[in-house]
Amino acid sequence: MQSSTHRVVNDLLAYEPHFHETNEVHEDVHKTLRDMGYYGLSIPEEFGGSPVDKVTLALVQLELARLPPQFWPSIRQAVGPVPQLLLQHGTPAQRDRWLPRIVAGGAVCLALTEPDAGSDLGAMRTTAVRNGDRWVLNGAKTYISNAERGDGFLVFAKTDTSKARDGVSAFFVDPGTPGFTISKPIRTMGFMTTGVYGLTFDDCQIPAESLLGEENRGFYYAVSGLNEARVNVGCVALGGSQIAYERALQYSKDRVTFGQPLASHQVLQHMLVDMAMEQHAARLLLLDAAWSLQHGVDVRLKCSYAKVFCSEAASRIADKALQIFGGAGYIKGMVVERVYRESRVTRIFEGANEIQRNMIAKQLLKM
Ligand SMILES: Cc1cc2nc3c(=O)[nH]c(=O)nc-3n(C[C@H](O)[C@H](O)[C@H](O)COP(=O)(O)OP(=O)(O)OC[C@H]3O[C@@H](n4cnc5c(N)ncnc54)[C@H](O)[C@@H]3O)c2cc1C
Repeated sequence: MQSSTHRVVNDLLAYEPHFHETNEVHEDVHKTLRDMGYYGLSIPEEFGGSPVDKVTLALVQLELARLPPQFWPSIRQAVGPVPQLLLQHGTPAQRDRWLPRIVAGGAVCLALTEPDAGSDLGAMRTTAVRNGDRWVLNGAKTYISNAERGDGFLVFAKTDTSKARDGVSAFFVDPGTPGFTISKPIRTMGFMTTGVYGLTFDDCQIPAESLLGEENRGFYYAVSGLNEARVNVGCVALGGSQIAYERALQYSKDRVTFGQPLASHQVLQHMLVDMAMEQHAARLLLLDAAWSLQHGVDVRLKCSYAKVFCSEAASRIADKALQIFGGAGYIKGMVVERVYRESRVTRIFEGANEIQRNMIAKQLLKM
């Protein structure tokens, strides 16, 4: 599966120049990825998926991540926490409703972050109040990926405002529900076409059965789901740096300065060696985390290790790749420019690296 994905991705990379020129992803890209069944990799067969184990999933994502992230935003969500949370805590009706939609290419967006609550999720202010057979949502979310294309949203809100973590619940919300609005795209440094968006809930009423799992358990669902998301971010980061490395390696053989290919200068050889070693080390850490996820062993620690190390290694590799290209690396439309810009956010989202280090320290120091 890894090698067939490698070939598919190599074909789809031909659409990257069109994307840089138009800022639009060619429909053939979405169609190919949908037809190849990548949306169903985390979803059981009874819902139309073709599930693979976590290590295979990581290997496939590492290949897909050689593409611009805008080429596969809904797949990232389809292999992210939402299907797992549905399988672990969803009602039969919720699973029947959402899982087949995800397999068909639909996106269910995870909405946690708020203007005043990012790392500190317990401080969220969006509320959900029970009123007969409805919940009434009020508040705002921000930086929600892919929201414009969202077929559904898993929104976290306070159901007990006297508590922090123990007062959060999670709800499925349909786009178009009265009182629910999605902002225009918030302009970002990378992740441009799919964009991030603000969500506003103004006396937004949803059916009682929209609640996921148990009331006031939402924070813990989010934390467990984010372990999976951290391995996925590691893949996004490392897949990007892999293609930057491949392009830099080739360029160093093609580009001649002072009568010799760049690759014959020892300083550049050493840069390439460091990139290759870091890529390999990060890949091993990532696959180890995927294995832990599959077997339920040391999950939090391993997923945090992988997220931090892969995102930071990817930034260093992308930086060196751009340097090897010299001025050409700084030009829009170059793969190394794209990777340099896009990889930066992997140190921030799905739990910023400082927060990951805090969590790792707690476990190591048993505090
Ligand atoms: C492109 C993009 C896509 C995103 N997609 C989504 C999405 O789909 N859904 C969603 O819910 N959210 C999404 N986010 C939001 C993202 O998860 C948050 O930005 C992230 O969790 C950090 O929160 P914050 O921005 O509020 O930073 P803050 O929490 O304000 O933190 C600011 C800085 O301080 C550091 N810091 C904070 N507290 C501590 C501490 N106790 N110790 C040490 N350092 C600390 C942080 O690490 C960070 O560097 C996205 C963000 C971006 C940029």
